[in-house]
Amino acid sequence: MDGADMQRTVICMYDGFGFDYFEESPLPVMKRMAREGFHKKGKAIFPTLTNANNISIICASWPEKHGVTTNCFFDEATNTARFLEDADLILVPTIFRRFRSKGVRSALLTCKDKTLKLVGRDTDFAVAAEAPSADIVARYGAPPPMYSAEVNYWLWTIALDILSNRPDIGLIYVHTTDYPMHKWAAQDPRSLEHMARLDELLGAASSVSPDTNFLITADHGMNPKRKCIDLRKTCALGGIDLRFSVSPVADRLLEHHRGFGGVSYVYLRSEKELPAVRDFLAKVPGVDKTLTRHEAAGLYHLMPERVGDIIVLADKETVFGDLPEAEEELARGYRNHGSLYEQDIPLIAYGFAGNGPDPEEMHMNFDLTQWLCSTYL
Ligand SMILES: [Zn+2]
Repeated sequence: MDGADMQRTVICMYDGFGFDYFEESPLPVMKRMAREGFHKKGKAIFPTLTNANNISIICASWPEKHGVTTNCFFDEATNTARFLEDADLILVPTIFRRFRSKGVRSALLTCKDKTLKLVGRDTDFAVAAEAPSADIVARYGAPPPMYSAEVNYWLWTIALDILSNRPDIGLIYVHTTDYPMHKWAAQDPRSLEHMARLDELLGAASSVSPDTNFLITADHGMNPKRKCIDLRKTCALGGIDLRFSVSPVADRLLEHHRGFGGVSYVYLRSEKELPAVRDFLAKVPGVDKTLTRHEAAGLYHLMPERVGDIIVLADKETVFGDLPEAEEELARGYRNHGSLYEQDIPLIAYGFAGNGPDPEEMHMNFDLTQWLCSTYL
């Protein structure tokens, strides 16, 4: 089949939609789609952070190919952490560009401006709720605050409008925010309400555009965390002077002492220090294990030049980040991701014409877009 004949497709990338949210919420529409179409419990890419997973889904490939392994990277030239927002750092074409070359137009609807900066140029219609244009505000109203569940409903209203009024757009990518998942566990009534509303909007999308193919997945799950460790300060207490440690989960809130995550990229002053530092880090309570850059790249299909000298994996209740002290107990209700424990996510396809995905070949979130590409490109 040729891309020009592509069935209209909506990719629903629900940020932070761990498998427990799928299980614990009634979701009558999505669960019917799952039953009648294809569904499976799948895995997110490690590290379980938005950019690595979102870009993997958008490029239908592992990070070892597209190169995005972090939200935030260590810039050796300036000795500082920098946010990954440069589209040129993505080393393979996005599905938007690949389908565009076949005459398919795409729309990207995202909460975060960082996603727009990274891949918006390959789409024909792009909206970031964080920074909407005047035209968008005129048509859809001002978006609700970024830190709300309502911003996700606003985004879906635009998706419904495109599905109703823009038949020229064949591929729609909806990327919601995980703010509600950071705030509320799957069983929390406020989460149930958020998921119920998203489910209604999914139902509305399917009603206004009944011949559409829906691919549903997530970038990571979410877990309650108890403790944060500043690895640089912890190492300093043990007499080790790390060159840098970066929390790959951090985004623009880094300055506010947030941006913790269940993984850290540690940079050394000299390669000779590696065995001793690794040994020390492995014994820090809250650390599950440590890997060298090549071990991590091999195991998780990452690009070795774009991770640290040592990759430190947290246990289920711990996150890493910059703190005033070496350690901090986190407030009750603090929820985050980044570790190996936030990998379970749903994979759902519904409404596809012809053969659906082969369950044997579907493992990772980006296998859904890989299937789409292998079907139409
Ligand atoms: Zn995310």
